[in-house]
Amino acid sequence: MDASGSFKNQTAPCGRIVDGENFRDEDSDVVVTRETEFACGCRSIQHEYHDGSVSRTVTRHDGRVLVDELIAAE
Ligand SMILES: [Zn+2]
Repeated sequence: MDASGSFKNQTAPCGRIVDGENFRDEDSDVVVTRETEFACGCRSIQHEYHDGSVSRTVTRHDGRVLVDELIAAE
């Protein structure tokens, strides 16, 4: 299964419509990492922890952090 892949014409965090790529990385110890890189330079990184909590960071192409949150498990 290839969980990563490129996409086209998605709305980046800055509002531009750009192409980009998705990456997925599984670490047996800690987390699943999902990362999205947009052509303009914006990026979104999400970590899923074994206890079900999720952290998410969205960084705009100029380096400004738009979202930095930890969503606790229910
Ligand atoms: Zn951008």
